[in-house]
Amino acid sequence: MDFQQKSRPACKRCFLNELDGEYFKSIYQYINNIPREQKAPTEEYVRRLAICKSCGDLKNGMCAQCGCFAEVRAAKKGQTCPNSRWGPQQEE
Ligand code: SF4
Repeated sequence: MDFQQKSRPACKRCFLNELDGEYFKSIYQYINNIPREQKAPTEEYVRRLAICKSCGDLKNGMCAQCGCFAEVRAAKKGQTCPNSRWGPQQEE
């Protein structure tokens, strides 16, 4: 399905799992396949996404600052928010 063909209205503060689940399955497969040593701990992933959820730069699951899918960026241990809202410096 083409993203533009979605019948549901755009959701500015949604993550991919709140949009069309079928379309984004491959993104979740990618996240699931990130090697364990490269993955952020689950509680840190959840904390990061809570920050993204309240961020005005989250648009349809993507970070408007970097163009990444927020869930993918947050899933990787070494990643940081481009606006320094989360990342290793806030996790120490
Ligand atoms: S990564 Fe940072 S700038 Fe991007 S949506 Fe999340 S909190 Fe906002």
